[in-house]
Amino acid sequence: TQKPGKARRVLLKLSGEMFGGGQIGLAPDVVQRVAAEIAAAVNQGVQVAIVVGGGNFFRGAELSQRGLDRARADYMGMLGTVMNCLALQDFLEKQGVSTRVQTAIAMGQVAENYIPLRAIRHMEKGRVVIFGAGAGMPYFSTDTVAVQRTLETRCDEVLMGKNGVDGVYSADPNVDPDARKLDTLTYSDALQRGLKVVDSTAFSLCMDNDVTMRVFGMGEPGNVTRALLGENIGTVVTT
Ligand code: UDP
Repeated sequence: TQKPGKARRVLLKLSGEMFGGGQIGLAPDVVQRVAAEIAAAVNQGVQVAIVVGGGNFFRGAELSQRGLDRARADYMGMLGTVMNCLALQDFLEKQGVSTRVQTAIAMGQVAENYIPLRAIRHMEKGRVVIFGAGAGMPYFSTDTVAVQRTLETRCDEVLMGKNGVDGVYSADPNVDPDARKLDTLTYSDALQRGLKVVDSTAFSLCMDNDVTMRVFGMGEPGNVTRALLGENIGTVVTT
C-alpha cells in the first residue's frame, strides 16, 4: 500500500505487555531489543509513528472491577502509557534515533502535545514520533488510538505487535486446539467471529476507513524490523 515515490510511513502499536515483559512495571532489556529493531528500519528510510499501550501498569477496566471509578481508572491507565513512551524514547535515542513524544493529555515538561501536522513533519525529518496517553479519553483503548493516529498522520498501514501469538487465529489458540493461524482476514469476518486479538472498535474504525492492518508476533527476533519494512508476516486484515 506504499504511495509511489513516497517513503513508506507506518504506525506501530506496542502493547504494555511487551514493555513489562509480561509482568507489572518495566522490562528494560525487552524495550532495548525492540528499540534496536525499530532503529534498523528507521535507518533504511521508513517513517515510523508508534502508539504505546499501558497494560503493564494499569488497565482501567480491571481497576474499576476492584472498586475504582471507571473513568478515573482509565486516566490512570493513560498516564501509565506515558512512562512506557519515555522508556522507549530513551532506548531509541541511545540507538542514535531522533524521537519526539506527543501526548493526548498535556504535560509540557515531559512531552509535546499531540499535534498531528507537527507529528507528520517530525516523521518527514526522520524522527520517530511516540504517541502517549491514548486518546486522552476514558473508555477507549490504545488499539483504537493506533488506528485513529494511522488515519490522521496518513500512515500507509497499522502494525499491531503482539506477544504470545504470531497473528490472528480462527479461534482463541489458548482455548481451542483446532485454532489455526490465518494469513488474511476481513474486518467483517473478524467482527462476526468475535476475534479479540484486537478490540472491536479498532477493527470497525479500520473497516469504515479502509485501513490495512497487520497483526504479527514480536517474540521472533527481527519481526519488528520485518513488519516495519513491509515483509509479509503475521496476518493481514483488510476490508
Ligand atoms: N486508556 C483510555 N483511553 C485511551 C487509551 C487507553 O482510557 O484512549 C486506558 C485504559 O484504561 C486502558 C489503559 O489506558 O486499559 C492502558 O491502555 P491499553 O489497555 O490499551 O494498553 P495495552 O493493552 O496495549 O497494554
